[in-house]
Amino acid sequence: MGARKYLGLILLLWPALMPAAPPGRGRSPEALLAQVLTGEDRNPEATRRALVALMPQLSPGATRRDALAHLCVLTADAEARAGLAMAQQGLAEARQTGDRRAESKFLQCRGYAGESLGEMTAAARDYAAAVSAGEASGDRAALAQALAARGELRQTSGEYAGAINDLKRAYDLYLALGQPYKQNNVLNAMANLYSDPSVGEYDKAIAYYRQLLAGYEKGGNRADVATIDFNIGSSLELKGDLDAAMPYYRRALEIDQARGDAGSVATEQQGIGVLLGKQGQPQLGLTWVEKALAYFQAQADPDGIARLRLARGELLRRAGRLDSALVDLDAARVYFQQQGNLRFLVRIDEARALALAGLSRWQQAYEALGRQFKAQSALDHELASKRTTSLRVQFDAERTEQQNRELQEENLHRGEALRAAGREYRLQAQVITLGALLLAVLGMLAMRQLGKLRRLHLQAMTDELTGLPNRRSILAFLDERIRVARRRGEALSVVALDIDRFKRINDLHGHDGGDRALAAVARLAGSALRDSDRVGRIGGEEFLLVLPGAGAETAAEIAERTRSAIAAASFDEISPCLRTSVSLGVSSWAGGKDSVEALVKRADEALYRAKQGGRDRVAC
Ligand code: GH3
Ligand code: MG
Ligand code: MG
Repeated sequence: MGARKYLGLILLLWPALMPAAPPGRGRSPEALLAQVLTGEDRNPEATRRALVALMPQLSPGATRRDALAHLCVLTADAEARAGLAMAQQGLAEARQTGDRRAESKFLQCRGYAGESLGEMTAAARDYAAAVSAGEASGDRAALAQALAARGELRQTSGEYAGAINDLKRAYDLYLALGQPYKQNNVLNAMANLYSDPSVGEYDKAIAYYRQLLAGYEKGGNRADVATIDFNIGSSLELKGDLDAAMPYYRRALEIDQARGDAGSVATEQQGIGVLLGKQGQPQLGLTWVEKALAYFQAQADPDGIARLRLARGELLRRAGRLDSALVDLDAARVYFQQQGNLRFLVRIDEARALALAGLSRWQQAYEALGRQFKAQSALDHELASKRTTSLRVQFDAERTEQQNRELQEENLHRGEALRAAGREYRLQAQVITLGALLLAVLGMLAMRQLGKLRRLHLQAMTDELTGLPNRRSILAFLDERIRVARRRGEALSVVALDIDRFKRINDLHGHDGGDRALAAVARLAGSALRDSDRVGRIGGEEFLLVLPGAGAETAAEIAERTRSAIAAASFDEISPCLRTSVSLGVSSWAGGKDSVEALVKRADEALYRAKQGGRDRVAC
């Protein structure tokens, strides 16, 4: 009786007492892999870990290659180099065994890793080969994936017609395969392409986004809803529908704030700030952009920082804070110049031109306008040449694939893409021609006006007798150099120079002789200067030397050379026996808030000491 009781207990506990069975014992490798891959789209990291655990249980063969291919793609996302190594290994095996399906997948994986490493040309080559291998294998899923990858890369490199072609094929394949998640991803890529400013099919993009949004809202996927909201907002903004765009940005922001996704929140804040600027509320826009900038600065993300400084620069310009705007725009310009990002350079130089014009810095505004035009031409040229190549490729493909029944439907899409590209190309050519004409006319007018302005400006800034900068001009120069010194932490000195006993020269040689002596001394005063130095006439027979980068010692040397050159000079054209001398006072910029006035005052005091000390000397 007791034994029966124990037997019953043992039977009851049997499963718990026995060691756990190895996972999936008795199931086929295909079924095991299929089970692991069910979560691939939604939960890639968990799938990657499950695959790592599964690999040792699989014996060499097609299923193991398949598992490795999935692992490869999931790895390449986070660790490009590790993904690359897996791709090489898998590719060699696939080619050895003639497995075209696996070959296509490993080529995709290598392309994917290449993209992460910034090797776009190699990635493009891999994707093209992946498409061919996918076609040869007859495996529609492999082909769809290769087409989607190639389509997205083609878009980023501006091959729009080829990109849309690939994406549409991938979309139809996923539709036929019944893979809605991947189908949506491709639809999103297509919508992104249509809303690319170079394509400009905003209504089409918005229609696709709305289709996606309906699905995501039903599925309750908040992150995807926020992304699509943001994308719709940005398409509406690009289309010029500013008021319609704002609610979409707001809703995306609300969702991502609730989700605690700080990176997305920053991007949305940027979108709202820029939009407010376009709606005529740059001050309000600035508060949003500042928040986003703070986020990217905390992340030390150079790309984000540069984008936000561009945004802030544009807003500051709209708000009329032109000097601050230029600081931001110049900083963004340095970064995007390095990156070779023509599209942003066009935007930056446009804003710079407007800001500089607002400051009446015509010459620089004109230069910025020229740069903007140059970047725009380069951009148009780049896009146009890419488009022509991709169209040519398409024609070749058409000829060889004419028998293909599937192509009939394809051709519909293709015709549409071709017509869109053709329309755009013609439009662009017209815009460039008109732009060039307008610029030429404006340029001519501007040159004439500039010439006049420059002559007037020069007259206003030059001392007539000596041809040197006048008092206002040399003090403005000094002010500018002090700002530079402050920024760079450099030294700066000035020298006040006064002709000794000049009244006597006037008395002995007449006012006219005095004038000529003054002009001669002015020439000598500049003789000891370096390229960056400048001398101006600040009073009757008084001059000021501005010596950027010179400390007290260097300045004293330059002053001494100037003194001895003047003391040794003869003035035969006025009178053979005329000699003269000058007294000089040196002062150096003390850093910080030390001003033009204080600096000149100290130089004058030193000059006074030189006079007191007997003239014809330098005092510091
Ligand atoms: P010191 O500086 O050595 O003390 O003697 P100074 O004689 O040079 O001193 P002061 O500053 O008293 O005299 C400057 C004279 O320069 C007075 C003025 O008549 C003359 N002067 C100022 N501007 C001009 C000018 O443009 N042309 C001529 N010919 N003389 C000028
Ligand atoms: Mg004097
Ligand atoms: Mg004098």
